[in-house]
Amino acid sequence: MNIDLETFCQQAEEFISAHYPRRSARAGSEHAAVAVIPERSAAQEAAELPEAIQWRKTTFDAGFGWIDGPAEFGGRGLPPSYADAYRQLERRYAVPDEGYTRFSVGILCPTLLAHGGPELNGRYLRALRRADIVSCQLFSEPDAGSDLASVRTRAGRDGESGDSWRINGQKVWTSGAHYSEVGMLLARTEPGSRRNAGLSVFMIEMDQPGVEVRPIQQLTGGKSFSEVFLDDARVSAQSLVGEIGRGWDVINTTLRHERAVIGSDGAVDLALVPRLIDLARRHGCWDDPVVREATADIYARAQADSLMTLDFLDRAEGGMPGAEMSLSKLRLTDNLQRISALAQRILGGSFVTELDDDFGWSQLALTLAGLRIGGGTDEVLRTIVAQRVLSLPRS
Ligand SMILES: Cc1cc2nc3c(=O)[nH]c(=O)nc-3n(C[C@H](O)[C@H](O)[C@H](O)COP(=O)(O)OP(=O)(O)OC[C@H]3O[C@@H](n4cnc5c(N)ncnc54)[C@H](O)[C@@H]3O)c2cc1C
Repeated sequence: MNIDLETFCQQAEEFISAHYPRRSARAGSEHAAVAVIPERSAAQEAAELPEAIQWRKTTFDAGFGWIDGPAEFGGRGLPPSYADAYRQLERRYAVPDEGYTRFSVGILCPTLLAHGGPELNGRYLRALRRADIVSCQLFSEPDAGSDLASVRTRAGRDGESGDSWRINGQKVWTSGAHYSEVGMLLARTEPGSRRNAGLSVFMIEMDQPGVEVRPIQQLTGGKSFSEVFLDDARVSAQSLVGEIGRGWDVINTTLRHERAVIGSDGAVDLALVPRLIDLARRHGCWDDPVVREATADIYARAQADSLMTLDFLDRAEGGMPGAEMSLSKLRLTDNLQRISALAQRILGGSFVTELDDDFGWSQLALTLAGLRIGGGTDEVLRTIVAQRVLSLPRS
């Protein structure tokens, strides 16, 4: 169906506003945290998760769930600019947290489109986009984080016909493992293989006897990720993503999309600017030229970075984000660091006291550390930018 962008945005806004109110600069609460990685209690999660899942179903059924996706999997086949316009609109409204399904929607689906094949794509794409299934990423291990080529989890052929695999090993830092139905798992399938050869990727059912999920208590209070122990867990041969032994190609697609999803989330720093101004006003320092200049600088950086990222995404060949998306993630975390520093300057000692009305700002400082690690650490991303974007020699 042909529809111009203006009409599309009008229809999208009518749809969203029929379900949720607009967000306010104060995010509706004196105590609202500004964490970039949400710190949810078990009770909060139990209340939020069903609503987040229901919202994905409602948007999908209304034709806004996969705006630029292929029609055969329930997408509308519109240009990516329409999907981006929808995302910008949705962020103005108090819709449920998209974090619960971010991996499924923004990272796993494009990976499956690139490597999945008809059987896997038929099984998962529509279900993931509609949140009929929620998924997690089982890549990192205690001795394999930045260096995923050191993965030790093993997958061995099982059964006389060899039509299934047994998985043994341990994963760690798996976000959302405790509420996911499936995981995207990286394992070594060729015994004795080294580094990035002999690795394969599978879709694994989380609810089975060989999979044990142990949540990790975080410094910041939440339990958003887990250790996952795999003890003779099973996957079928049909759950292989891509080719056997070529898992490195698959995870590179996943990691590129992961950095694009985090890096293109420019609205995170833009959305915090009105809250910074509100904070400065309430603390009587909005007339302080240093505060005003720092706020203007943060705003200008957020706008420039978001335009830069849109340009990167426009140039993404075949929908595959380029290595330069690492720069977008680095710029985002750098600007968030500036926001955190300015909030600390405004609040002084009360930045860390949980008794103050604005205690949510300390959550920004604490969770920002995680954002600078997940999806590729600052150091690793700088190396990628140096070598693959600027073509500098290897050190
Ligand atoms: C919020 C969050 C969510 C996450 N979610 C998931 C998830 O869902 N699934 C999953 O599989 N993993 C997840 N992770 C794990 C994440 O991918 C790893 O933490 C990350 O890749 C870094 O690995 P590591 O923790 O083992 O640190 P290491 O790789 O051991 O790094 C330690 C330090 O050494 C530096 N370093 C390492 N290698 C180099 C190098 N070559 N050059 C320069 N410096 C280097 C790093 O920058 C870092 O400062 C998550 C992490 C966070 C923080």
